[in-house]
Amino acid sequence: MLYPTPIAKLIESYSKLPGIGVKTATRLAFYTIGMEDEVVNEFAKNLLAAKRELSYCSICGNLTDQDPCAICQDDTRDKFTILIVEDSRDVSAMENIQEYHGLYHVLHGLISPMNGIGPDDINLKSLLTRLMDSEVSEVIVATNATADGEATSMYISRVLKPAGIKVTRLARGLAVGADIEYADELTLLRAIENRTEL
Ligand SMILES: [Zn+2]
Repeated sequence: MLYPTPIAKLIESYSKLPGIGVKTATRLAFYTIGMEDEVVNEFAKNLLAAKRELSYCSICGNLTDQDPCAICQDDTRDKFTILIVEDSRDVSAMENIQEYHGLYHVLHGLISPMNGIGPDDINLKSLLTRLMDSEVSEVIVATNATADGEATSMYISRVLKPAGIKVTRLARGLAVGADIEYADELTLLRAIENRTEL
């Protein structure tokens, strides 16, 4: 089907989103054209603002619109504990249960020997630098219960333990392969309460 260039381009843009095929992209593009001008303006503005105004916290790597992020700047947080997660969505999941009051470190990936992703390919070096001059006494590894999540947790434990830092891992409340981001609040709460030392 040959469409006028502007809609063909819009279909092409929607097609770039994950899980959106050409058929859905076409439906979304036509739907967008039928939307009120101000709604479309707002949509476009939000897309650009999200991209422009967000960056990663220079301390913990969390997605933020201020640097350092609000959590790193918060003096009421427990500065002795750092919880390590794969990405910023896991931070939101943890914050939602309002039970964890320490700090975070976002890896932006996991060590994956199968895919040739090593410790230097994720945001891990900054954690080691961060731990060097801090009073952190416990690091909780909250990576998902997948092979890569395990490889990452083993590596972190091996590096940090000789430095005298207690390394714990979320309890097995989460099913193997389960995603922290989608775990229900009670499961997540139990997993953190029953964490085990590595
Ligand atoms: Zn931060």
